[in-house]
Amino acid sequence: MPLVFHRYNSYMVHEILPVGPLQCNCSIIGDENTHEGMVIDPGDDISAVVAIAKKHNLQIKQIVITHAHIDHIGGAMKLRVLTGAPILLNENDYALLKMLDVQATWIGVPTPEKVEIDRSISTGESVSAGMHTAQVLHTPGHTEGSICLYFENEKKLIAGDTLFAGSIGRTDLPGGSMQKIIRSLHNTVLALPDETVVVPGHGELTTIGEERESNPFLVKNTR
Ligand SMILES: [Zn+2]
Repeated sequence: MPLVFHRYNSYMVHEILPVGPLQCNCSIIGDENTHEGMVIDPGDDISAVVAIAKKHNLQIKQIVITHAHIDHIGGAMKLRVLTGAPILLNENDYALLKMLDVQATWIGVPTPEKVEIDRSISTGESVSAGMHTAQVLHTPGHTEGSICLYFENEKKLIAGDTLFAGSIGRTDLPGGSMQKIIRSLHNTVLALPDETVVVPGHGELTTIGEERESNPFLVKNTR
């Protein structure tokens, strides 16, 4: 088989590891040919995250955070120290970084060290692991700076806490807005094809079609 053909069909390494007491779905994504990797939402359990990257021979080039809740960002600095990779977060969540100590008391974990963000990312930009590229979609509502990552070629959405199987993210925490999350879901998330696999920030995987059909927060009430 010609090498170029093999590369075109390159398989995306994607392991999902539930981390920390709230079992945040941390994604380890990589290109099996270039061995470039990215980690999305390293909330905790960084030694296990690093072990998965090592198993696939991946060099972590980017640390991407879907939103600045402690269960998604708590291990980011530890991972940055170990890999040298920059931490990317939408700037509208910078305010939440200043209250990581308050967030720690919500779930009863120690206050993590101060998190330094290397760059803000938003709609119109993309993040990549080798040839696997995700569009950044700013989807405010769960928090002001919540983003989703859409891997168009792989038909996969990393949804953070914006969309869950059968539910949506809570909006009662600081920076949350029910009006905004509903708008983000209808205008941005449900604009994606039905076959798109959704990896929520917690719990089971789903698809856009499944949620469009049956998610009680999204189906239009026709009765
Ligand atoms: Zn959250």
